[in-house]
Amino acid sequence: MHAIAIHPGKTGAIRVERPEPVVSADNDVVIDVVEVGVCGTDREEVSGGRADAPPGSDELVIGHEMRGRVVEAGKGVTDLHAGDDVVLTVRRGCGHCGPCNAGRPGFCESGDYTERGIRGRDGYQCERVVDDRGNIIPVPKGVAAVAVLAEPTSVAEKAIAEAILIQRARLPEYDEVGKRALVAGIGPVGLLAAMALKLRGFDVTGMDIVDEDANRVVGLKAMSARYIDGREVQATDLDAHHAGPFDLILDATGAAAVEINLIDALATNGVYVLTGIPSGGREIPVAAGDLLRELVLGNKLVVGSVNASHEHFALAIRDLELALAKWPGVIEAFITSRHTPGEFERAFGKPADTDIKTVIAWAK
Ligand SMILES: [Zn+2]
Ligand SMILES: [Zn+2]
Repeated sequence: MHAIAIHPGKTGAIRVERPEPVVSADNDVVIDVVEVGVCGTDREEVSGGRADAPPGSDELVIGHEMRGRVVEAGKGVTDLHAGDDVVLTVRRGCGHCGPCNAGRPGFCESGDYTERGIRGRDGYQCERVVDDRGNIIPVPKGVAAVAVLAEPTSVAEKAIAEAILIQRARLPEYDEVGKRALVAGIGPVGLLAAMALKLRGFDVTGMDIVDEDANRVVGLKAMSARYIDGREVQATDLDAHHAGPFDLILDATGAAAVEINLIDALATNGVYVLTGIPSGGREIPVAAGDLLRELVLGNKLVVGSVNASHEHFALAIRDLELALAKWPGVIEAFITSRHTPGEFERAFGKPADTDIKTVIAWAK
């Protein structure tokens, strides 16, 4: 079968051939790949960034945001059948730490986890895949058209779930309804975080550095969230005039200077969760005393969150279903371009300001 691979550490992607996946264990499920999303992680991998090939190989099939359709299941799988729509999680546990053994590899402590399409395991940019039933989330028929968004949604879901869990633990009276939330960076993860926060009753503001008529801003506003252009308002000026200060901030920019400055926009008892991954190396001047005093005197919390576990994918599917009903046509429009597998070079190219999510369509 056809697949798209990279040589980790080198620039460019290539077409490769892989053996047809088959059921080889009772809990295996063979799945036809329907669509695979492309994100910043893929583009980084294609330009020679962070990625690892499976042991014994120097090629990695990329792609970690998929939706597919069941072809065949092993005899231990009784609840999935040919034709069922499904998505697959990304991270596979290390097998020897507490969170992984509890089914929460998103919190792996050993660092020995693998990730399909990223770290030590082939991904989903191919015609067909096989995986264990435990890594599969069934998708209701009505959600299938946007289920390729499940993975970026799951990243937002984990970040939000953590923030709310911590708030409820330390503030027993905590109620998210009506609370002010800021999402910095409204690419796919940010936009889907805005969606999940709106569904939970937050008053949501999104911030980015694109024009008001960009698709992502149109999508944000269609969910009754407001938009702030970060080129006009600095993170340190997000006061009451700009809907701040915020009880919850979710960063999806990966821009270190923005991430640090946003601490200033956090309300007393607020929680700030970071999902953007900044590149290192550049030094940023910080008024450390002011910043740390703010954190202490305001009971403010800053927490990092990466990846997601099965439970967050399930939340993602649930929220996508709710959002499709609440804002007809809006979530569908987050998928701004579909390419054939042969057009992978265009799909992995630099996205335009008008793009939200680019996908490669492997099947109808
Ligand atoms: Zn991704
Ligand atoms: Zn682990």
